[in-house]
Amino acid sequence: MNSRVNLSEAGQLALWQQRHGEHYSQPSIEIDRAILRRQARRFCRAMPRVEPHFAVKANPHPAVLATLAEEGVFFEIASKKELDTLLDMGADSENIFYSNPIKSAQYIQYAAAKGVCWFVVDSVEEVEKIADLVPQAKLYLRLHTSNKGSLIELSSKFGAFDEEADAIIERATALGVDLCGVTFHVGSQCCNSDNWRIGIEAAIRCFEKMKNAGLTPELLDIGGGFPVAYEAPVATIEEIATVINKALLGVDQSVRIIAEPGRYLVAEAGRFYCQVIGSCRREGRDWLYLDSGFYGGLLELKEGLHYPITSLSEGEPVPWVIAGPTCDSVDICSQSYPLPAGLKAGDFIMLNYVGAYSNACACEFNGFPLPEVVML
Ligand SMILES: *Cc1c(COP(=O)(O)O)cnc(C)c1O
Repeated sequence: MNSRVNLSEAGQLALWQQRHGEHYSQPSIEIDRAILRRQARRFCRAMPRVEPHFAVKANPHPAVLATLAEEGVFFEIASKKELDTLLDMGADSENIFYSNPIKSAQYIQYAAAKGVCWFVVDSVEEVEKIADLVPQAKLYLRLHTSNKGSLIELSSKFGAFDEEADAIIERATALGVDLCGVTFHVGSQCCNSDNWRIGIEAAIRCFEKMKNAGLTPELLDIGGGFPVAYEAPVATIEEIATVINKALLGVDQSVRIIAEPGRYLVAEAGRFYCQVIGSCRREGRDWLYLDSGFYGGLLELKEGLHYPITSLSEGEPVPWVIAGPTCDSVDICSQSYPLPAGLKAGDFIMLNYVGAYSNACACEFNGFPLPEVVML
C-alpha cells in the first residue's frame, strides 16, 4: 500500500486501471485512512488549544468517522441521521455539537434524549424553541461574520448580526437558559486567514456582552472553512494557525475552544475514478461526458473547485466542457477544463482531493449509481 504514495498521479491511475479497468462497472472513490490520520494530527499540532470536531456532512462514511475518532477528533452534526451514525460507532454524545442553526423540534428532542447537550442558536425563535423543549441545554450563539475570500459562502443563510445577537442574549437571560458560547463560520474553502481573526475578535466582544447580562462564557467554536490546495497554493494550516493562535490569546483560559473542520480533514484522502462515456463537438466546443457528474459526487467541480485531474490519454491539453451522464443540464460540471485532446469514450480519469462533499452529496438521480467507497 505504501508504494502508491510514491507513485506519480499517472502511475497511480495506470496501476488502478491495470487492477480494475477490465471489470469496471461504476465510479468509485478510494479513501486513504493514512491521509485522514495525517490531516487530523497536523491540525492538532498547529492549534494545540483547539479541539477539532469534524463536520460530519463533509464525509459521513462510518469508516471515515471511525478513523478520525481514533485520532481523538470529536464531531459536529446537523441531523438525526448524522447523530445515529455516530452513536452506532460508540461516540460519546457529550462531545457531539449540534451546530445547525435551525433545527426541527423533533430532532432537538431526539438529540437531547440521546445525551447531546450543546445546541447552536442564531435567532430568538430558536432560543425559545430550545428553552421550551430542553431547558437544561447549553447554547452557543452563531454570529454573522465575514466570508470574504471563501469559495462557498455560508453567511447569507446563517448568523446573527449585532442587534440580533443582543436580542438573543436578552431573551436567553430572561428565559434562564444557559447561553454560554459563541461560534461563527468563515465560509468553506476560506483563503483569507483574516476572517478567523475578525470572527474571534467579534466573539470576544460578544463574551463581554454576555458577561454584562450575567451569563458565563464557556465555549468558543471557531467553525470550519480550513482550505485545501486543490490547484493553486492556499494558506497552510500552520499559517492560518499563526493568525488564530494569536487572536486566541485574547480569550480567557477557562474557555473551551473547538473548531469544526470538514473539508480540511478529509478532502486530500479521496481519489475518484470514473470513465468517459462520450465526447462530441457542439457549437465549436469539445464536450466530455463522464459516468459521474453533479449528482454522482462531482458537485463541487461545478462550484468552481479545480480538482487535479489525471488522464493517460494522448494529446495536448485542450479546454473541455465536462458533463455528467444524467439528462439534466444542471449536470454540466465545468465550462472549460484542460485535459488531453485525445480523450474518448472508454478512457478512465482520476480526480484527486475528492474526499470532501463528494460521496456525501451524491444521489442516484436518473438511475446512475452512487460512487462506491473503498477504504484503503
Ligand atoms: C459545513 C460546516 C462546517 C464545515 O465546513 P468546512 O468548510 O468543510 O470546514 C463546519 N461547521 C458548520 C456549522 C458547517 O455548516
